[in-house]
Parts: sequence; C-alpha cells; structure tokens
Amino acid sequence: MSKKVRVRFAPSPTGPLHIGGVRTALFNYLFAKKHGGDFVLRIEDTDQNRYVEGAEEYIVKSLDWCGISFDEGPDKNEKFGPYRQSERKDLYKQYADELIANGKAYYAFDTAEQLDAERKGHEAEGKTFIYNWHNREKGRLVNSLVLTEAETKAKIDAGEHYVVRFKSPQDETLHLTDIIRGNIKIDTNVLDDKILFKSDGMPTYHLANIVDDHLMEITHVIRGEEWLPSLALHKLLYDAFGWEAPEFAHLPLILKPTGKGKLSKRDGDKMGFPVFPLEYTAADGTVSRGYKEDGYFPEAVVNFLAFLGWNPGTEQEIFSLEQLITDFDLARVNKAGARFDPDKTKWFNHHY
Ligand code: GLU
Repeated sequence: MSKKVRVRFAPSPTGPLHIGGVRTALFNYLFAKKHGGDFVLRIEDTDQNRYVEGAEEYIVKSLDWCGISFDEGPDKNEKFGPYRQSERKDLYKQYADELIANGKAYYAFDTAEQLDAERKGHEAEGKTFIYNWHNREKGRLVNSLVLTEAETKAKIDAGEHYVVRFKSPQDETLHLTDIIRGNIKIDTNVLDDKILFKSDGMPTYHLANIVDDHLMEITHVIRGEEWLPSLALHKLLYDAFGWEAPEFAHLPLILKPTGKGKLSKRDGDKMGFPVFPLEYTAADGTVSRGYKEDGYFPEAVVNFLAFLGWNPGTEQEIFSLEQLITDFDLARVNKAGARFDPDKTKWFNHHY
C-alpha cells in the first residue's frame, strides 16, 4: 500500500449501537492499526428526521469502553471527538452545484403525489418504478432535464420544493471490485437517479458520505454489507467528480437467529443484549440492557466480536487487542454472515 491508510467509522446517530456497528468499528480500527494508518469517527447526522438525542454519546462511550480510539477529530480534550456532518453542512451544497454545472446532476420538482402515481402506474403494468432515464425521457417526471433552463429557474425562484438528483448513466455495465466480494457487474439501467441534495439545505447520505470520504482522504471504506447496493452509485459519484475512489470492503451481515435478514435490536433483545455493549436509556426513559451487564470484560467482548465474520486461520481462540492488530487481515473475512444458534447458544458462520 503506497498511500497512508486512512479509514473511518461513519455511524448515523439514529439509536444506540448494536453488535454489527461495533464490529464494523473494530475491523476498521484493526485495519488502521495493522497498517500504521489513521482511524476517524464521523457522525453522519444530516437526516434530522432520524436523529436521536443521546445516540452519539452512546456510540462514543461504547467504543471507548471497547478500547477503540481515534487518531484525529475537530476537537481534542483527553481524546479526539468525532467529525459531525451537521457541522460541515455548508460544504456539501457547492459539490451538488458542481455536479449540476457539469450536467451530472439535475433539479427535480416531483411532489410525493406525482411519485406515488408513477409508482402505482408501473405496478399496475407489473413493473418496478425506477426514477431514471427511461422515465425521464418519457417526460413524465418533473425534472430539469425535460424543462427549459428558464422554467427550472422560475420554479426555484418561486420557492418550489426541489431535490437534486444524480443523473445515472444509461446502457453501461459497471465493473466494480470489493475486497471481500470480488468482482461485481452492474447494469446501470437498473439504477435509480438517487437524491443527493434536498431543498432544506441538507445533503443526503450518499453525497455527504462521498464528499467526506474524499476530503478526509479515506483509502479504504470498510462497512456493512447492507451498503453494497450503494457501491455502484458511490463509484459513479467519484467518477463524476473526477476523484479517485477508495477501496471498498463490505463486511458480511450478522444475521437473525433464523438466518433470514440482519440481526435487529429486537432479536438482540431475545438473546439478552439488544444494545452493545453498554446499557442505553432512550429519550422516553426506556432502558435497554447492554451486553456488558453480564459482567463481561471489554477484552472478552472485543475478542468475541473479532470472530464474527473473521477467522485467524489457526485454532487460536483467545486474542488480545494487540494480537488482533497483528493478525487481522481483510482477506480472512468470511463472505458468509455470522449467525447465532439459540439452541446451542453458539455463533457460527451461516452458509446460504
Ligand atoms: N451512515 C452510514 C451508516 O449509518 C454509513 C455507511 C458507510 O459506512 O458508508 O451505516
């Protein structure tokens, strides 16, 4: 690796951390330390509707309890504090404007009712509604690609609600690479023109995430597999800006005990640890018991987490954080999800 390795953990403060989030943070941390790199914490809090008071503090405290630390941040007291996207929000608009100016994004003025009608119309024909080129070309969607420049400007000046959408290319095959998944081929015609920016002045996850990964010089994006469907858009955004994309590694899911879908807070509840690892008090005063309450030491929790979706390739089962740093290798991350067997009260790797 020629460049200095830089990775980040980028949770949205929508509730307490759960086991999957802490594992993502841990793998990023191990990877950074192993390669003498930097690890940053970035709170992705641009979606005000999903913001949960206290979630950020919970995330910071939980990671601290696990012994996971950060190498930089906007403020440092004893430890580095996280970057927060809400404190960087003025930055993102200029990037949305740049894409519009270069013809890579456009304004769209559809109302919720219009979108709903489109969706229903498609469903009636047995088709899935994709907000992209073939619909744009039919001119049924209210967007600046079918409006003149003057019409677009008049709508904005009149204060009409708009969003900025990415213009997905048509008839292309994307060849993507993921460190864990290998090569992935995507037909661009299945892609939606995703919303990048909203008229409330806030970017969506996709734009803010890409801009920050670029500005923070992130070299490797290590995140949960639920973000794999966003990989194509993210790669296209890097290309649209003319930026070099980082490498991507999508970690296998931690599954429900049934093997169907991702482990939820409710499943965790049944298994005795809905949140992870500390006890969590919600804004309404409800308390969720954390894993730690069973009297586990941070070292044991970290050791246990490391084995969810990773194996050292030896029989060794007990690892200190230092040993994990030495032995950690993304090439030894499993493709299969990790699953808890409630009968045997044991974790194992699920094979589809
Ligand atoms: N904010 C996203 C999350 O909550 C981050 C995904 C990513 O790491 O790109 O998981």
